[in-house]
Amino acid sequence: MGEKIAVIPGTFDPITNGHLDIIERAAKIFDVLYVSVLNNSSKKPLFTVEERMEMIKQVTAHLPNVQVESASGLTVDYAAKRGATAIVRGLRAVSDFEYEMQIASMNRTLNAEIETFFVMTNTKYSFLSSSMVKEVAQYQGDIRELVPEVVNEAVQAKFK
Ligand code: ADP
Repeated sequence: MGEKIAVIPGTFDPITNGHLDIIERAAKIFDVLYVSVLNNSSKKPLFTVEERMEMIKQVTAHLPNVQVESASGLTVDYAAKRGATAIVRGLRAVSDFEYEMQIASMNRTLNAEIETFFVMTNTKYSFLSSSMVKEVAQYQGDIRELVPEVVNEAVQAKFK
């Protein structure tokens, strides 16, 4: 077998320190890691796909084996196209578990060749989500501990 390739799909609206932690750790395990920004989300995003990709590129610039892309359609199809054998997802509190189990099980039904790997969040990010960041920032709360500085600036600009 050649390179071990994985994809880490998500909305990343915007990327938080929690996402970045998972990306950094997965990048140590896999030879190539595609961070794929999903544009088929039913959620109404604050940032465009391009803006989200740009922020991820900036904050993962120190990780040479990380590629940032956008993706639509089924994640297993995207993963297969990239030659990936794994989908990486982060797990926070118990509340993530049932949802992630559903997705992982559906993905296995769709393509049994692709394995889902869960990375446990660093406990300090257990309750950190993109929606929480936006909620706080909307009311001028301080999000500097929650997101990289470029993201902080971009979020502030959106709510100005
Ligand atoms: P989605 O809309 O697909 O859930 P997100 O951008 O919210 O996309 O999350 C992408 C992935 O990152 C998911 O696996 C999610 O569980 C994980 N994740 C989100 N926030 C954190 C965090 N604070 N710590 C660890 N993993 C996280």
